[in-house]
Amino acid sequence: MESVNNKTAAQNHDQTAIPQVLIVGGGHVGLSFALLLAHHGMTSTLLEKGRYPDISPDADPKRSHYLDSRNTALSRRTVQIYQEIGLWSALQSHACRIDSVQISEQGSFGAATLNKDEEQVESFGQVMENAWLGRELLLAAKASPLITLIDGASVQEVSETGDQQVSVGYTLSDNGADDTAMHTAKARLLVACDGRDSSVRQLLGISTVTYDYQQTAIVGVVETDKGHEHAAIERFSPAGPLAVLPLTDADGDGNDAQQQGHRRSVVWICPKGEEEQYLNDDAHFLQTLQQAFGQRAGTFIAAGRRGAYPLTRVLAQRQVQGRCVIMGNAAHTLHPVAGQGFNLCMRDAHVLAKMLKHQATHGGDIGNANLLKRYETARQRDQKRVIRFCDAVVHGFTHPNPLVKFARNGALVAFDKLPNIKPLVANYAMGLKA
Ligand SMILES: Cc1cc2nc3c(=O)[nH]c(=O)nc-3n(C[C@H](O)[C@H](O)[C@H](O)COP(=O)(O)OP(=O)(O)OC[C@H]3O[C@@H](n4cnc5c(N)ncnc54)[C@H](O)[C@@H]3O)c2cc1C
Repeated sequence: MESVNNKTAAQNHDQTAIPQVLIVGGGHVGLSFALLLAHHGMTSTLLEKGRYPDISPDADPKRSHYLDSRNTALSRRTVQIYQEIGLWSALQSHACRIDSVQISEQGSFGAATLNKDEEQVESFGQVMENAWLGRELLLAAKASPLITLIDGASVQEVSETGDQQVSVGYTLSDNGADDTAMHTAKARLLVACDGRDSSVRQLLGISTVTYDYQQTAIVGVVETDKGHEHAAIERFSPAGPLAVLPLTDADGDGNDAQQQGHRRSVVWICPKGEEEQYLNDDAHFLQTLQQAFGQRAGTFIAAGRRGAYPLTRVLAQRQVQGRCVIMGNAAHTLHPVAGQGFNLCMRDAHVLAKMLKHQATHGGDIGNANLLKRYETARQRDQKRVIRFCDAVVHGFTHPNPLVKFARNGALVAFDKLPNIKPLVANYAMGLKA
């Protein structure tokens, strides 16, 4: 979006009817939430600090790398949500099915496999490059008449105006030259999707409980000589949990029978401070992967650009205050071990959008304190379960004690053999059970 458009939108904003919802932060959660609201016929203005690339549906049919170099495993539930709002057809061409999940530990006997045929599911989820997900979300948001996007807008102030409205003050940056003038936007409700270090959360004085895992995730795309056969391989090493996920071929359509299937997404977790060697030296990175995975994925033959993400868990002490809701990583930033963070955010966004729609349809105030409290309470169980699960996996599988190691390998064997456990775990992983 060009800055001139931003300014026009910003200047026009106070003169037109206020939107129902103000969303701060236009990452994948903020954009998805705006689209969910639009699906329910609700208006929103989304303020994003960064500058979006100037993309159009026709331009750059391959990948336009913009937000980050990561890949996201979308659960079955997330796919269902995108289907519900009519976005899955655009996303699907660059999604790659997960048909099986193989779990094992380096240097140990335990192993378990989840298979889609045994569990009688269509797939366990779909893997998508964030670049493609972000591109399609942005195109859809730009095309919606119910969403006003203002990028280059950094929120600096939040206040409740007392007339059933919440107001934010924001500055605009224009091609690097900062515009120091404070602009104002108002709505009935503010939803903060401004990430782990959320400014809105801080402005509201909501504290967090944080935990530094002392780990860094190295993420990127690799190629193997063996086709991925739609398998997700989760491997636990002394350094931390590692994952190799199936990806589409470079020209997309990972669910098509013609796929070669040699591209895979890698999440390699190393102790904090050791990341440089994996980021800059392709040969070393490939050799390290080979050692950790053995021949499970075949031979690692090429590595693409990689990014490093320091891992911390950040949990907001409250997710609702006045007419404000904290959502996405701003509410709960999790370890990526089980690919649950974004999927959990999508379930939050789906529930809130539905509750707001119901309230609006009945002529109620969408910033009503009881309504927002009900939302916060409704989401607690699912959030707590996912947070506990991620931590149990991280700590349980990296504990060096030989007895703990023996016990967890026994548990993996039991998990693989005992009836009734797999469907339960599979349902949780797919986000189908809260
Ligand atoms: C290595 C790794 C792998 C992962 N893999 C998976 C996976 O496979 N499956 C899964 O479910 N999850 C996964 N996750 C988690 C997932 O990436 C996050 O849950 C998700 O990105 C959260 O998105 P968000 O929009 O809440 O936050 P962000 O992506 O951080 O977006 C926040 C946005 O707010 C903007 N912003 C910040 N401050 C302001 C301000 N003051 N004013 C206006 N805008 C502002 C920022 O510019 C940014 O665009 C992974 C995470 C990591 C680190």
